[in-house]
Formats: sequence, structure tokens, C-alpha cells
Amino acid sequence: MSRDTSKPPNGLRVLIVGGGVAGLETMMALRAIAEERVDIELVAPEPQFWYRPLAVAEPFAAGHAGAFELAGVASAYGTRFTLGALASVEPERHIVRTTNGLELPYDVLVLALGARPEQALKEGLTFRGPADVGAFSRLLFALEEGEARSLVFAIPSATAWPLPAYELALMTAKHLGDRTDEVRLALVTPERRPLALFGAAASDALERLLEERGIALHAGKHAVAAAGGILRLAPTGELPFDRLVSLPRLRGQPIPGIPHDRHGFVSTDASGRVRGLDDVYAAGDITSFPVKQGGLAAQQADAVAESVAARAGAPITPQPFRPVLRGLLLTGGAPAYLRSEITGGSGEASTVAAEPLWWPPAKIVGRYLAPFLAEHVGLTAASARPADPCAVVVDVALKLATDRAAVEPGSVTSVQGER
Ligand SMILES: Cc1cc2nc3c(=O)[nH]c(=O)nc-3n(C[C@H](O)[C@H](O)[C@H](O)COP(=O)(O)OP(=O)(O)OC[C@H]3O[C@@H](n4cnc5c(N)ncnc54)[C@H](O)[C@@H]3O)c2cc1C
Repeated sequence: MSRDTSKPPNGLRVLIVGGGVAGLETMMALRAIAEERVDIELVAPEPQFWYRPLAVAEPFAAGHAGAFELAGVASAYGTRFTLGALASVEPERHIVRTTNGLELPYDVLVLALGARPEQALKEGLTFRGPADVGAFSRLLFALEEGEARSLVFAIPSATAWPLPAYELALMTAKHLGDRTDEVRLALVTPERRPLALFGAAASDALERLLEERGIALHAGKHAVAAAGGILRLAPTGELPFDRLVSLPRLRGQPIPGIPHDRHGFVSTDASGRVRGLDDVYAAGDITSFPVKQGGLAAQQADAVAESVAARAGAPITPQPFRPVLRGLLLTGGAPAYLRSEITGGSGEASTVAAEPLWWPPAKIVGRYLAPFLAEHVGLTAASARPADPCAVVVDVALKLATDRAAVEPGSVTSVQGER
């Protein structure tokens, strides 16, 4: 079924595929910079955007992974929203096909499909986000009831965002309190030192905190297999466990018509243009950039938006993607704000602070998305000085009605639903 194209579009036709962090940031930045010079359409296979970072806080009743309707946000930004999953691209014809039979034309295509979380270890719970909160809560209950005596957290692959594993481990230790003497907690990571990407100061602070909370750290170790309650490590070693929680391995989504690497990721230049294709861009976890993080996805999206806006005639000199890593680590006590410029060097430009290093102090930092979430979804990220430093509440206060219907332009609707 091909879309009626008899009505000429208003400006450069930009088709954004993916309604996650990179897709939304691209849409917001593009509208802000290119204004009416672009005609934007957003395509996603599900009607909601899920704010995944707070999934780690949910089992501890310290936050909630909220969601909101994409159609409402799109309409607030003068964007058409189309429900559909990308099936293939025909770059020569400037056409995208969806799995439900739509043919969508574009002048410029932005791929923001994210990555697919895969189970890396055969045993244990793979914590992918909101969908696994229930399973993790049950596991926590089993520890409280004495049904399990040891819990190992594993980061099996370097191509992942490691922060959630540390957050779950630290919050579990805090939650169990004195009972950590009865429950052995351990964390396995291939990183040389914990959160080494953020530099030595962050690793020092985290090592201290893990030790204080009684979490045994196995750094520089790859969790390669789990069977019969034993986790095998490479290059050497093994760890027994009653319960195992691992992060997923991330993979790209090979799209017919788009060049990709052997893991399905798409290679781009510094402006986000897909190598080998003039009118196709990509941003976020789908790209071959090795660190998969929401803040970086948003920075890539900003570079894409600037480049596309310049093509549409906006008076802007596009800036390339220069990654700055910002992480808000939930600990079950006072949160830590981490910042580092990814230079490929030793991370000297890194900072660790108890006070917010950016504003609003959100977990996903996007120039346009973070203020939007703060204003419309009432995202009140960890306060700098919580009244009770042991009870930091990171809350997505769903200020807006949960009614899925009527969405006024300029507003969004938050929803609860399938994750
Ligand atoms: C538990 C957890 C905690 C995290 N914590 C943080 C944090 O504290 N800070 C941080 O910065 N990052 C965090 N991240 C990482 C962050 O969520 C991701 O890096 C970020 O969402 C990537 O953005 P993206 O737009 O590339 O992909 P996503 O946000 O995953 O969005 C992908 C979009 O593409 C859509 N899509 C998928 N397939 C198709 C298809 N075939 N056709 C069309 N659309 C498709 C999806 O439905 C979705 O709308 C966390 C992740 C998890 C899982």
C-alpha cells in the first residue's frame, strides 16, 4: 500500500524510524532548528515511548519506568505519527517499506531503531528493563525469605550500558541491609575497573562503594557460560550462584537495503550519515558506536538534526558528534553524577559529584528530550539533596491524565501498559 503523495510536502521530507531516545531527540531538535523547513514523519512499531532507566529503581519502590503516547508528542512537534515496523529500505527510490505493507517516501531517512537485547547467558534472569522488573522483584523476595544465599550480577558483554548492573547490585545490598552478611553478592564485569569509561575517579568511588556494601567485584572477567549454578569466567575462574542476573548482549537489526556490520550495527560518519548512502542517517544504539547509552544517542541525534536542518536551508553550521558521557548512578543512597569526555585516552576529563553536573538532572540527558520530559512528564530526577540520603526517590510523576484518547497539541499523555 503506497502513501498518497499527490499533495506536495511542506519542505524537506524527513522520515524518522524509531520512537525511542534518538528518534524523539532528532524530531525535537529538527523542529527547533529547521522550523517549518522540514516535513517530519515518525514511524514506530509500538504506540509508546518507555523511559527505561528507572526500571532499576522500580523493584525497590524508588522510581517508576513510565511511558507516554508517541502520537501526542509527535503532534506537539507538528509531526505525523505512523504505526509500523521497518521491513526494508530502497535507497535508490527513497522508499521505506513496513511489515504491515506501507510504502513511505522520504527525502532524508533517519534510522533510530535502537538495539535488540539478547540473552547472553543460558541461566538466570536477563534484565532488559521494564519487562523484567517483576522477575527481579520476585528474586529479591526470595533473598529476603532466605530461599537463596548468593546472587551474582554479570555484565557479559562490553557492548552494553553497564550502569544498570551496578545500580541493581548497590540497591540490592542497601535493600537487604544487615542481611548482606547472610547473602553473598558479587558482580562480574569485563571492564578493567568498574565504569572505567568514566575515568579513574569514578572507578575509585565505585570500588569503595561496592566494598562498603559487601559486593565482591570480579573486574576484567568475562562471564562466558552459566550452568548448574556455576558461572564460568574467562580468562580464568568460576563463581557458584543461587541466583544470577545478567545484562543482555546488544545486537543491531539488519535492514535489507542498509549496509551493516556482522552484528547488525550501522556505521556512520561524525554527522550521522550512513556510510555509502547520501540521504540516510542513523543515530543511537543502532549505530556501530561502541557505547550504547541514551545520552550519547541524543548527542548523535543532535548532530543528525543539525546536518539535516542545514540541508533544509536552516542557517546553522552543523557540529559533528563529540561524545560526552553523563551518568546518574542510583545507589540506594545519595546518587552520583558522573561525567566524562570520550577521547579514547585515559579519561582525565572525568568528574564525579554528589551535586547535579547537568540540568535537568535526568538519567537520559538530551538537549531537547530531557527538558521536555521534565516539563511534560514531570520527570523529577534524583534531587541533589534528598531529605533522607538513604531514600533517594527518582520519580516519574505522571502528572498528565492516563487517558489514552484526546491528546492536545502541546501536551502528551502518559500511559501504563505493556512494556
Ligand atoms: C535498564 C536500562 C537502564 C538504562 N539506563 C540508562 C541511563 O541511566 N542513562 C542513559 O543515558 N541510558 C540508559 N540506558 C540506555 C538507553 O535506554 C539506550 O541507550 C537508549 O534508549 C538508546 O536510544 P535509541 O533511540 O537508540 O533506542 P531505543 O530507545 O531503544 O528506541 C528504539 C526505537 O525503535 C523502535 N523500533 C525497533 N525496531 C523497529 C523497527 N523494525 N521499525 C521501526 N521502529 C523500530 C522501538 O520500538 C523504539 O521506539 C538504559 C537502558 C536500559 C535497558
